[in-house]
Amino acid sequence: MISKAYFLDCGICHLDKSVLIGPSGAGIVVKVPVFSMLLESDSGWTLIDTGLNPTGVTDPDKAWGPRAKTVKPTMKPENDINYRIKELGLKNDDIKRIILTHMHWDHTGGNRFFPNAIFYVQRAEYRFAYYPDKIISGSYMRDHFDCGSKYELIEGDTEIIPGVYVFQSPGHTPGHQSVLIKMKSGKKLLITGDAVYTQQNVDLMLPPGNNWDPNYSIFSLNKIKTIQEQTGAILIPAHDPDFWDNVPRSPDAVI
Ligand SMILES: [Zn+2]
Repeated sequence: MISKAYFLDCGICHLDKSVLIGPSGAGIVVKVPVFSMLLESDSGWTLIDTGLNPTGVTDPDKAWGPRAKTVKPTMKPENDINYRIKELGLKNDDIKRIILTHMHWDHTGGNRFFPNAIFYVQRAEYRFAYYPDKIISGSYMRDHFDCGSKYELIEGDTEIIPGVYVFQSPGHTPGHQSVLIKMKSGKKLLITGDAVYTQQNVDLMLPPGNNWDPNYSIFSLNKIKTIQEQTGAILIPAHDPDFWDNVPRSPDAVI
């Protein structure tokens, strides 16, 4: 079971509103948060996603190529995942396992700083990240995830450690997964990853606009909504500015 959960602020991106909730809102640019989650438990420390590549603090073009100009990721030094871990009095090697919701560039930017952690990712995502369909290939940056990490490839829905469950939520990508967390306090958290960008995706049953397959995205929205309703979990969307405004950020924790 999880005793504490930390929201690690990893910076922002600028997205067209039609990407947040397809297909409406084209031409309106929205600043969205990028974050990782760190979980404390009897089984040690677990991280979910690793945020933006901190090379971008000083050299955005080198870190992100053309994305530096299109979605304009913006990071301060304290948005570096290494800074966030250190701020909590931890070393990177204290992080024993890292769950990747998927392998897009804004979720894998810090992977290379955890050479001794085991990365848990769906097999379908791992395979696709190396050879993505052209429609979505711009969202993967090979240097982010092909860096000598140790991978544990998952096929299906499973428990990673007591209180941490991953389940498949494809659509945004073929091997996307979401995470359900049970806390000692009795609270439950549902980390949707990019299957849900904002609460509105679930309220309106409209998935984000940038899908690998919109049919699967709608299937996954229904699955997430059902799990959320059945468990009473707090829904944690991946890139929701309104949600983010009200979240206790690290070094504060959710207990
Ligand atoms: Zn994302």
